[in-house]
Amino acid sequence: MIDEQNSTTPQSSSTIKCECGFEILVVPDIKSVGSAIDGHIEQHRKNQPDSKQADMVAKRIHQMLFRQLFEKIGGFYI
Ligand SMILES: [Zn+2]
Repeated sequence: MIDEQNSTTPQSSSTIKCECGFEILVVPDIKSVGSAIDGHIEQHRKNQPDSKQADMVAKRIHQMLFRQLFEKIGGFYI
């Protein structure tokens, strides 16, 4: 029997996914999810040689990831 209380096995429903395929685990500590998102956005910035392009990419990914995050947590934390 599988113990459904076992939180060490992340389900796909508790992650948000970047367009690059990178997955961020959604945990109750939303601040740490936010810093994980910011950290990942920095990775995308570094891949952009042009700073304007980097800002556009960062903005787009930020919106996309936070939209997914709020869809996950909306009913529980707000
Ligand atoms: Zn990404």
